[in-house]
Amino acid sequence: MKCIFCGNTESKVVDSRYLKDSSIRRRRECLSCGKRFTTYETVESSPMVVTNVNNEREPFKIEKLKESIAYAGYCQNISQPVEDLANKIEAKLLGLNKQEITTKDIVKIALEVLVEVSTMACLVYYTQHTDCDTFDDIRRFINR
Ligand SMILES: [Zn+2]
Repeated sequence: MKCIFCGNTESKVVDSRYLKDSSIRRRRECLSCGKRFTTYETVESSPMVVTNVNNEREPFKIEKLKESIAYAGYCQNISQPVEDLANKIEAKLLGLNKQEITTKDIVKIALEVLVEVSTMACLVYYTQHTDCDTFDDIRRFINR
């Protein structure tokens, strides 16, 4: 990061703050002239590729995830915003540290997150994405 006053490339971080949109604001101090400036850092959106049941590959789209969560949460009065749930699921998927994930990975993690919010939403999501339909099946699927 180049100092805006003298162009020196070395600086130290004196303060970091996490912002609502998941970017980070940093106060930096130039190691050459000692002046301070602010930078904003954002995380690049997910580079994951999803392989579906037909072995087709497509980039991971959080919008698609939001749609299916909204559908599962429809009429179930889920207490958390769809946005938050989708972000939580995406974070967990990124946490797998895999470039390629399967739709099964997504379903499994979505269920892990949804089961804590609403059993019914979880059930709806599950029946929407698999062919079993009892809650015991869901538990088995999660624990697999
Ligand atoms: Zn400087």
